[in-house]
Amino acid sequence: MAAHQEKKLAQERKHKHIQNDAKASQGQWGRAWEVDWFSLASILFLLMFAPLIVYYFIMSCDQYQCSLTDPLLDLLSGNKHLSDIWNKTPRLTYKAAGIYSLWVTFQVVLYVFIPDFCHKFLPGYVGGVQEGAVTPAGVVNKYEINGLQAWIITHVLWFANAYCFHFFSPTIIFDNWIPLLWCANILGYAVSTFAMIKGYFFPTNAKDCKFTGNFFYDYMMGIEFNPRIGKWFDFKLFFNGRPGIVAWTLINLSFAAKQQELYGEVSNSMILVNVLQGIYVLDFFWNEACYLKTIDICHDHFGWYLGWGDCVWLPYLYTLQGLYLVYHPVQLCTAHAIGILMLGLLGYYIFRMTNHQKDLFRRTNGNCRIWGKKPEYIECSYVSVDGTKYYSKLMTSGFWGWARHFNYTGDLMGSLAYCLACGFEHILPYFYIVYMTVLLTHRCIRDEHRCFSKYGKDWKHYTAAVPYRLVPGIF
Ligand code: NDP
Repeated sequence: MAAHQEKKLAQERKHKHIQNDAKASQGQWGRAWEVDWFSLASILFLLMFAPLIVYYFIMSCDQYQCSLTDPLLDLLSGNKHLSDIWNKTPRLTYKAAGIYSLWVTFQVVLYVFIPDFCHKFLPGYVGGVQEGAVTPAGVVNKYEINGLQAWIITHVLWFANAYCFHFFSPTIIFDNWIPLLWCANILGYAVSTFAMIKGYFFPTNAKDCKFTGNFFYDYMMGIEFNPRIGKWFDFKLFFNGRPGIVAWTLINLSFAAKQQELYGEVSNSMILVNVLQGIYVLDFFWNEACYLKTIDICHDHFGWYLGWGDCVWLPYLYTLQGLYLVYHPVQLCTAHAIGILMLGLLGYYIFRMTNHQKDLFRRTNGNCRIWGKKPEYIECSYVSVDGTKYYSKLMTSGFWGWARHFNYTGDLMGSLAYCLACGFEHILPYFYIVYMTVLLTHRCIRDEHRCFSKYGKDWKHYTAAVPYRLVPGIF
């Protein structure tokens, strides 16, 4: 009922033509209320083609040794028909459905029923019950941060099985890769559809729901801000963090095991990909509490973009380098391997330090030291839907003085390192850096649009003080 009222309110707002100037838009920050034609076209494109893109990449490894052009050439020359490719594609199996159900259930159990104990003995680690940011409706949610624990338990069990129990082969993920893709799609669509229905009929917090009136936009970008079941099962934290990100390192380990099985050894490029991506995943879980303050959790609503994206896009496309190396076990010369390792570690250092500086700055309300000095910042204010005024600060020193999103720059350097580890024979492994560049550039622009709506003229002062987005002096 409350959701219907909010929907009506949204329509009234739309009819009143809320001005887009900074003053009027304060209190309206968060996901868009109105859909422009470009956003709608992009959304329709993604809804139609994103599942096909994932299928095309995985199929081309399965049937064409990871060549992205050969399937197209085969189809265009009439050598093969779509039905030939489809008929050779493995179907959904009971085995894959069983593995997947067990996997997701196990992650739900770890998430919901095992409170964090890591923060009790790991110095510096922040886990247990933590607060998220203020939502547009002025709500502050509590989260049980236990992702590191879930990751550790899962990986200890994986290694225990691989080296002691031998209940299943460590290549199990690779061996069922396409049947598992169908399972991931079923979950991705089911959870996005459920989230939409829930947003209409039984939202967790009706004031934080957004209805644009456009079905496709609402399905894709989500209606509810923080859908939950019960007190603790938070959709965004669960689907963003697990099962996809916990699986990321297991998937890579399974690919390494497959290389070992096929060629009798694991290539140094596979080790590099496992190590660099492993650091990235572990970093995510070590900093899960800070993750509560990132765009995914603070600003994105939960729809297909997050639901399907976390179930399918992330585990299947973020792991393309490892999959490629199963088919092409590249052995890098030492200089090349060291260069890639250095690039990956430097990218990671920039990514981590930039995120750390913001987190420290926000956590201490600016009472900290960045590079040995008191941080510089711009004071800003914003208003939530209920009219409450809040104050915040935007840092203009440290890495945040170099560019407005230098954390993305570090992330991109790390992403490039994973791709370079695969050599230059095929373009498939380079999809990741192209995708990340598009994602993070778009995210940067999207975030700035939202920050302008939230902070108004204060945001303008900030962009004048820090004029570049990603690369100082260039962009
Ligand atoms: P940020 O962590 O950069 O968060 C942006 C938010 O930080 C803004 O909305 C604003 O929020 C606040 N902010 C902006 N400028 C300042 C400033 N100068 N001082 C203090 N606060 C500021 O963005 P993301 O959440 O997108 O990214 C987090 C990390 O995750 C990044 O390192 C990114 O590379 C990574 N990432 C990785 C992805 C992947 O698929 N591998 C996908 C997306 C992100 P507020 O409203 O609170 O002011």
